[in-house]
Amino acid sequence: MAIQAVVFDWAGTTIDYGSRAPIVAFQRAFAHFGIDVPEAVIRADVGLDKAEHIAKLFAQPDTWAAWLHSGHNAERDVAIQEVYQQFQQEIRTVLTETAQLKPGMQALCAYLQLKHIAVASTSGYTADMIKQLLPLANQQGYRPTVNVTSELTAGVGRPQADMLTFAIKQLHLDDPQSVIKVGDTVNDILEGKNAHAISVGVVVGSNLIGMSEAEFTALPESEQSRLKAAARDTFIKAGADYTIDSMADLMPLIESLDQKALQVPLLLTPGPLTTSASVKETMLVDHGTWDDDYKVLTQSIRQALLAVGHADPELYTSVLMQGSGSFGVEATLQTAVPQDGTLLIAMNGAYGQRMATMATRLGIKHLDLDFGETQIVSAEKVLNVLNQHPEVTHFAMVHSETTTGILNPLTPLIPKLVEMGIVTIVDAMSSFGGVPIDVTQLGVDYLISSANKCIQGVPGFAFVLAKQLTLAATEGNARSLSLDLYDQWTCFEAEAGKWRFTSPTHTVYAFRQALNELIEEGGVAARHTRYAANEKQLRAGMLALGFEPLLPTAVQSPIITSFKYPDNRFDFRRFYESLKQAGFIIYPGKVSKAKTFRIGNIGEIYPEDIQQLLAVIAKIDAVPSAAVSQ
Ligand SMILES: *Cc1c(COP(=O)(O)O)cnc(C)c1O
Repeated sequence: MAIQAVVFDWAGTTIDYGSRAPIVAFQRAFAHFGIDVPEAVIRADVGLDKAEHIAKLFAQPDTWAAWLHSGHNAERDVAIQEVYQQFQQEIRTVLTETAQLKPGMQALCAYLQLKHIAVASTSGYTADMIKQLLPLANQQGYRPTVNVTSELTAGVGRPQADMLTFAIKQLHLDDPQSVIKVGDTVNDILEGKNAHAISVGVVVGSNLIGMSEAEFTALPESEQSRLKAAARDTFIKAGADYTIDSMADLMPLIESLDQKALQVPLLLTPGPLTTSASVKETMLVDHGTWDDDYKVLTQSIRQALLAVGHADPELYTSVLMQGSGSFGVEATLQTAVPQDGTLLIAMNGAYGQRMATMATRLGIKHLDLDFGETQIVSAEKVLNVLNQHPEVTHFAMVHSETTTGILNPLTPLIPKLVEMGIVTIVDAMSSFGGVPIDVTQLGVDYLISSANKCIQGVPGFAFVLAKQLTLAATEGNARSLSLDLYDQWTCFEAEAGKWRFTSPTHTVYAFRQALNELIEEGGVAARHTRYAANEKQLRAGMLALGFEPLLPTAVQSPIITSFKYPDNRFDFRRFYESLKQAGFIIYPGKVSKAKTFRIGNIGEIYPEDIQQLLAVIAKIDAVPSAAVSQ
């Protein structure tokens, strides 16, 4: 089951780096009675109910002797009460001093909200203290909706399950395995385990390390690593299911737990690709198309796409088109090129070739300039051909040619062609959203992509970023009705986001979620960084295993990588099936001149996944034993 809720501890976990507040308040409370209690002694039991904690401290002979020595009431219960009351006073001041969210919490909160994951807290603090903390946390973006203290569980606190179980009930959840409990003490871990939740310990800024942020960051890195390793060890020994370094690390952990819960294989393919669990979840609801909400959603997507492509909304529009990516390409070609136009197509792979096939079918006059499969589109050669063919009015090329994974540069060619008055069409299907593209700067007339590539949505529609002036001049060009980009555009514009014909509603909703997650990740730049890290790790790891990449790094895109068969006995079927068994789906090759297979780096894929893939590949024997023995 996907993760439904996260229940946090307070001090040392979400706020108060190093869990200083209880320590300082305990020390000040005891100091009020003239007793000095060492920090280490207090730390040993942090996370307990506070009265219980004081009782434990008095159980230390030194503390109790000091208490009696200073002439206070000799009854143990009275002593506990007096210190407890003093503690309550002290903590009030200290709480306000230490309520700052820990690093990574703000990003985590935004992520949990985006994912519709509920947020709650349990605490060794009293309800009064939580009441004081909540507005301070809220101001910083942390808003737990259910907050449980031991007052709600008949005084039963950690390490018992009661508070957490109570919180889960309040959230109306049945399965504690869909709940993550995060804390920074051994008692937190035990509470999580006792409630049968997923128990996670956070290492940095925890009570286990117990230092302020300034103290910790001042340490040499080797010492930080040693302290972190020791804290991790303590958590694991206490039964923690996982440990995370910082609060931000909870995000990839949730992603990976969600994928595991779905028991889906990882698609290392160029799209359809692995989407996040939350994108998939969005599709569990049926929607009508006539609805105003749906039109508003469509408009918001059209706007967001312009932003992703840095397309000036004054100059550009975006048009969504039902069908796969090729439908978007075909719609663009037949709408853009009039009967008397001539199209030059620069190609170095199957998708460039597909444009030529489309042009032939559509009766569009076209010239094909083929660069082979391992050479990038050369601006110089394109300009040469244009010199010899003044009749050319339109130009088309593929940005990231998924056949091999080669990345064709768009500058300086496209701006030059635009300057020459040639209408430019770029198939950016497998790069848009994963490789930074500045549409306005390029001046490109049409840029095409689809829902199931780097935006990480599911298949169902293509989209075209188009220069308004260029598109406005294409009325009546289209050779078909359904794939008339001009008509589709005017319908969106005239009817505030209405699609002409039935649209893939589930896909559209999933796409909006995917766009939100792209923004949340840090936009195209951050996604590009992740894909590039995947590609780099894959390439190096595969090389080490004896698989040579088809392309040199200079022309390799971060999208998908082609590898040559290691020798002519290599059995791809066998290799593929072994990987599938292990939960990885890869892609066969598409190159005509060499035997290759392809591995995609895009989608909800992280370097950890690539590492696991490489570990599996290292164990596969893809040369049939019969072939070896001959
Ligand atoms: C995926 C892709 C397409 C479109 O393919 P469909 O199967 O129609 O979605 C077109 N061009 C490139 C470069 C692609 O990667």
